[in-house]
Amino acid sequence: MERTLLMLKPGVLQRRLAGDIIKRIESKGLKLVAMKMKQLDRETVRAHYAEHVEKDWFHYLEDFSLKGPVVLMIGEGKNAVVIMRKLAGATYVADMEPGTIRGDFALGTTTPDNCLHASDSVESAEREIALFFTEEEICPWTDPLEGWM
Ligand code: ADP
Ligand code: MG
Repeated sequence: MERTLLMLKPGVLQRRLAGDIIKRIESKGLKLVAMKMKQLDRETVRAHYAEHVEKDWFHYLEDFSLKGPVVLMIGEGKNAVVIMRKLAGATYVADMEPGTIRGDFALGTTTPDNCLHASDSVESAEREIALFFTEEEICPWTDPLEGWM
């Protein structure tokens, strides 16, 4: 089954939003099969956002990503990557649709930060999951709803 790496970014815990965001992910039907909290370090941020390291704004993303602990999760389900990208919403505030997680929880109207990371492809998801989770930290479970879907 397809998996995607989800990360509640710094600020979510401080704003007491973790439960609200996780609720939306569960309500959408994704199976959460791994979850943990972590204070990221520079090396991990650079590995996670490898495609952005050369951007002129990367230092901003790097400092933001280190501002406080994140919540890391693996969501599982058919088309989990595309479904979570839609549920997460656009990268920048002006493009975020209401009803998306980013769209509903954006802080202000100008900040390029957003509250949730969701892998952008199956390949990215595999790379990101391997960066943050060991096999032992992943907890697959049998879905009692399977016979109903
Ligand atoms: P997404 O998270 O939607 O996949 P990107 O991969 O383009 O978006 O960017 C990764 C993250 O970098 C964004 O979610 C956002 O937090 C941050 N970011 C993107 N663009 C900028 C920017 N111009 N300035 C600062 N941070 C940015
Ligand atoms: Mg991206």
